[in-house]
Amino acid sequence: MNQETKTCQNCKTGFTIEPEDFAFYEKIKVLPPTWCPECRMIRRMLFENERQLFRHKDETTGKDIFSEFPPQVRAKIYNDEYWQSDAWDPIDYGRDYDFSRPFFEQFRELMYDVPWVSRSARNLVNSDYVHGASNLKDCYLCFNMGNCERCAYVSDANNMKDSVDCTTLDRDEFCYECTNTIDSYQARFSHRCEKCHDVWFSRDCVGCSNCFGCANLRSRQYYIFNRPYSREDYFATLEQFGLGSHQSLEEIKKQVRQFSLSLPHKFMSGTHNINVSGDIIASGKNVHESYNITDGENVRYSQSLAMGVKDSYDFTVWGQHSELMYEVLVSGDGCSNVKFTMDSWPANHDIEYSFKCMSSNNLFGCVGLRKKSYCIFNKQYSKEDYFALREKIIRHMNETPFTDTEGRVYRYGEFFPPEFSPFAYNETLANDFFPLTKEEAVNKGYVWRDPETREFQTTVDAQNLPDHIKDVGDDILKEVIKCASCAKAFRLISMELEFYRRMTLPLPRVCHNCRFIERTKYRNQPKFYSRTCQCAGTKSENGIYQNQTSHVHATDHCSNEFETSYAPDRKEIVYCEECYQSEIV
Ligand SMILES: [Zn+2]
Ligand SMILES: [Zn+2]
Ligand SMILES: [Zn+2]
Ligand SMILES: [Zn+2]
Repeated sequence: MNQETKTCQNCKTGFTIEPEDFAFYEKIKVLPPTWCPECRMIRRMLFENERQLFRHKDETTGKDIFSEFPPQVRAKIYNDEYWQSDAWDPIDYGRDYDFSRPFFEQFRELMYDVPWVSRSARNLVNSDYVHGASNLKDCYLCFNMGNCERCAYVSDANNMKDSVDCTTLDRDEFCYECTNTIDSYQARFSHRCEKCHDVWFSRDCVGCSNCFGCANLRSRQYYIFNRPYSREDYFATLEQFGLGSHQSLEEIKKQVRQFSLSLPHKFMSGTHNINVSGDIIASGKNVHESYNITDGENVRYSQSLAMGVKDSYDFTVWGQHSELMYEVLVSGDGCSNVKFTMDSWPANHDIEYSFKCMSSNNLFGCVGLRKKSYCIFNKQYSKEDYFALREKIIRHMNETPFTDTEGRVYRYGEFFPPEFSPFAYNETLANDFFPLTKEEAVNKGYVWRDPETREFQTTVDAQNLPDHIKDVGDDILKEVIKCASCAKAFRLISMELEFYRRMTLPLPRVCHNCRFIERTKYRNQPKFYSRTCQCAGTKSENGIYQNQTSHVHATDHCSNEFETSYAPDRKEIVYCEECYQSEIV
């Protein structure tokens, strides 16, 4: 098939389907998409609340539990243990397919009839306040995480230990306020670093130790703002900075941002890759237009995948030994050939249009099933009947499509309509990446829900906390602190206090949600722009950065073009691979 340009059903702009895309759609037997990659991604993200827990009444015990779902949701919510037990059987909700009504309409009814597990979490030890989690021990308010111990306020991370306030990390220990950092130890306020230890406020550094405020360094130690120091002078200068003090730290943050902006940024962040495009790609092969992918092969239009994903398109969150995934949200741990499915894991294969199914195969339009095969709308069929009915339903989906409230049409091959989501826009992953105001969201046709205002009596204003960590006593754990930004109440936990002391860090002045927003303010969105290298010959286009070496294009403007997640209006100086590598020290 040749390249083809189509008009997106949702945003009405043109998007291109490449010949290799056609080959993939052919392989998994679906028609090419009718929404552009970005609209498809946001549509999936509208079904994922990654970072909030809501108080809920457990249907089985009447007790309060924490759930990923807002209390207003129309579904019954069971606690994890009961939901996974044999005390109830999702097969009891089975029903015949009705050929007089669209598939999606019937699926929505089943979806909201079958009880939901309160949150997506398995194998937890002393980690009650988590969601999107597997194999966690002693973790607190952690989300979308696997194989972690003693972490707090960390999201989108794997194989972490003893870390606080981090997002998108892998294999790190004792990290604080970091993003996109791998294999590092004692990194603080650092981004896009790899194999670093004892670094502060650094970005795009590899194999560095004892560096402060540095960028683009390789295997250096005792550097401050990219200048070498003796060991003694390095520590003496850090001492002068007074890093345990909140006030000093705030001053330094401004300097760091200015310094970082004066040095080039590589157009994409990636390591150990072969033929990739997108951003934050590690150990990838043929990974394209994707964001935050580790160990991926032949992956396209996907986000936040790790630990081995092959031959998959439009897959958002997780992975772990999965393949042939298409239009899937939150799945992994040995899944294959899964399409149009949400929160279904582990070990599923040949599943379509399903929600919260586990260890099953050959399901179509099912909700909450465990260890089942050949089911449609939660009803058991023989193998032969299953395949015959599946074919008939697919034909029916194409002949009698569903039309949503915005007039968009859904045939076989389309993910779920946004109006099926239990979440308001501001509760979802879509808002984490593309924050909107209430007005903007409503104008775009999204649901918005004002957060529940549970007023807690605060005992201390964040502004009045001791400036330096050395002056903080254990009684701080009893205080209810008023966030200096959103004015909501927050507390400190003892693991956290111990961490700040060990790492010489002042107490935070804002709540964990405000910290997340601040930390991710400058992170790139999973959205790509065609741009030209900003190397103008001997210096950067904006004249701020003077090249340290001469480049292959000599004094001419570099003509290299690339796809980057740095939007054209961003302040960062963005260089192509060649120009960036020429400036690495
Ligand atoms: Zn679109
Ligand atoms: Zn706050
Ligand atoms: Zn260049
Ligand atoms: Zn150049």
